[in-house]
Amino acid sequence: MYCGERFEPDLLTVDHVQPRMRGGDRSGGNLVTACGACNARKGSLRLAEFLRADEVAREHFFQLAMGHVWPRILRALEEELRKR
Ligand SMILES: [Zn+2]
Repeated sequence: MYCGERFEPDLLTVDHVQPRMRGGDRSGGNLVTACGACNARKGSLRLAEFLRADEVAREHFFQLAMGHVWPRILRALEEELRKR
């Protein structure tokens, strides 16, 4: 979701778009995959912080998330990105 490359499933990690501690569930519309390199770059950053800092990841994420991630979760993320 972040670099836009394709990987075999066993090389991917699963990220919650809305963190579990903030009420995010494990439904498909809240889960995205990341490769090991992107996951390492993201580290412990929250998704909005990571996307704010990484323009390439942000572009890929919003392109790929369209029609996949729940719209209300995308809206919340966009809102969080607008404020600093
Ligand atoms: Zn990647």
